[in-house]
Amino acid sequence: TSFQSSELRPHLLKNIEKSGYTKPTPIQKYAIPIILAGRDLMGCAQTGSGKTAAFLLPMINKILASQEAPETDGNTCNPKVVVVSPTRELAIQINEQARKFAHNSIVKCAVAYGGTSVSHQRNVVKEGCHILVATPGRLNDFVTRGHVSFSSVQFFVLDEADRMLDMGFLPTVEEMLGHASMTATGERQTLMFSATFPEEIQHLAGKFLHNYVFVAV
Ligand code: AMP
Repeated sequence: TSFQSSELRPHLLKNIEKSGYTKPTPIQKYAIPIILAGRDLMGCAQTGSGKTAAFLLPMINKILASQEAPETDGNTCNPKVVVVSPTRELAIQINEQARKFAHNSIVKCAVAYGGTSVSHQRNVVKEGCHILVATPGRLNDFVTRGHVSFSSVQFFVLDEADRMLDMGFLPTVEEMLGHASMTATGERQTLMFSATFPEEIQHLAGKFLHNYVFVAV
């Protein structure tokens, strides 16, 4: 199998090739068609498995297909994709991969994490983005202040859910997911990734994923 045989758009395939990826990893092989088909997903995969591209590629594909500009009124950004990451390092890595795959396209990406000044990130976010990658605290802060709205979110991704649990982020994440499901209009997909699948994560999956597909690699 190659990326060519997936249903990804030609521009995306070109950017994948430019990234030096020739063959999908197992999580990519399984997860990409499931996400393209509109299903919720619980993916058990370690860092290094290629899980980041497994969720980014089908989501970017959907944005490319829609051809819609990022939604913002200059004050509140309405991302189509929200990726929640437990750490700033991971958030930065996810954002870098997203930018590579979105290169030379309409797709705009932004990243927001704690421990640095709010103003620059806030201004970037307010300019509008399709994909927002953020750590839980900063995301919650931006939502509370009205810089980010979940009203247009089509994909909500929880990456490294078990690490979020270990770091005590689950209450914040649950609050945001609850908020997101209340404000969502139309169809929305929720994707969760975790290296392990302990009871708390099973519970979270049961609560926020709808009729989900479970993939473990
Ligand atoms: P991840 O598990 O998402 O953190 O990815 C681990 C590393 O593998 C990253 O450096 C990716 O750029 C790289 N990678 C992901 N998918 C592929 C692929 N299909 N072919 C080659 N490298 C990949």
